[in-house]
Amino acid sequence: MTRIILRKNEERRLLAGHLWVFSNEIEKIADAEADVCIASVFDWRGNFLGKGLYNRHSLIAYRQLTSKDEDIDGRFIFKRLSTANSLRRKLRPDRSVYRLCNGEADLLPGLIIDKYDDKYSLQSFSAGMDLLAGEICDVLTGQFKATLVVEKNMNSMRTLEGAELREGILHPSSESDRGRFTAEIDGIKFSIDLLKGQKTGFYLDQSDNRKYLRSLIREGDSVLDLFCNDGGFSLNAAAEGAGKIVSVDSSEACISKVKENFALNGFVLPETHCADCFDYIDSLFQAPERFDVIVLDPPSFTKSRKSIPPAIKAYTELNYKCMRLLKPGGLLLTFSCSHHISELAFEEMISRAGAKAGRTPQLFRKSTCSFDHPVLPQMPETSYLKGYFMKVI
Ligand code: SAH
Repeated sequence: MTRIILRKNEERRLLAGHLWVFSNEIEKIADAEADVCIASVFDWRGNFLGKGLYNRHSLIAYRQLTSKDEDIDGRFIFKRLSTANSLRRKLRPDRSVYRLCNGEADLLPGLIIDKYDDKYSLQSFSAGMDLLAGEICDVLTGQFKATLVVEKNMNSMRTLEGAELREGILHPSSESDRGRFTAEIDGIKFSIDLLKGQKTGFYLDQSDNRKYLRSLIREGDSVLDLFCNDGGFSLNAAAEGAGKIVSVDSSEACISKVKENFALNGFVLPETHCADCFDYIDSLFQAPERFDVIVLDPPSFTKSRKSIPPAIKAYTELNYKCMRLLKPGGLLLTFSCSHHISELAFEEMISRAGAKAGRTPQLFRKSTCSFDHPVLPQMPETSYLKGYFMKVI
């Protein structure tokens, strides 16, 4: 068994509950079995710390799976996934669609599994986790009775790990089912296309926020849904009787999904625009119309600390313009899914945007990801989504 011996004091992070060891924290590797393998990790005095996934080529050289000396096999995967599943079942027994495994936060570092009834989409962020792909698929098809397992491994982070980019159907092998189906989330039907959809195929992280939006909508409200993807927020607004709904995304595929989803639910189609939201917002200033509610949920503007300043600039521009596009007392739901933008930085940005717009943002709710995306407080890297719900006076 490959053994990793850490440099003096580099055990502190693992002992505090973090799950990563960086390559420069390793003193030596003993009995290396392969460049990517399961390994045991020890402190400089030789005390056992845990077992996990080692990758010689990665900056995150080790990801801890367990602090016990136990076998990493199908039984282990089943135990971890059962524990993850029971948390979701306990929190929301009514839901059959949810993120079953949220990587590090479910003690399966780098592994994301989304569940849509008996269909599953999985994403692995590490070459080490790829070693367990067979066991994971067996557990899903065996104990979890999956009828479909799709692999969505196209994230560019994988190249940092030396892992190849690939996606496709792992089960059933006949490939008769192309990963397209309808799923219902909180009473709204969504047409899901796991292979064509972005990331794991669908954004489950916003489902609680979409549901909460319903409580804010009054009959006839006008709603602008910016960066709408498949129309999750627009659909929930429509379910509550919103009047005019405008849904905007730069992806043609997303806009057709919005229309498909509205038709599926029997809702009157919204006004849709396949456009760059920055340009679209500017075009709105040429007309006098202002909105009751705006949802602003852009993609991550920064993948590293270096690009924080331009990201803040982009957030400020979007937020200040959205505040100006709201009726007095209108509601702005603004999000950032950039891990590197702190709450403090986001709040400062909101203050500046308010001052620039000549409006007073009044915060009444802060939110984050849905119930099925737990985070580890001891591992800040597991947290990313920030949502600010505001009345803009
Ligand atoms: N609000 C969505 C999730 C948004 S994800 C939901 O509830 O599911 C971000 C979306 O922004 C993606 O759908 C992507 O296609 C879109 N996007 C990225 N850059 C864009 C741009 N410049 N203008 C418009 N849409 C953009």
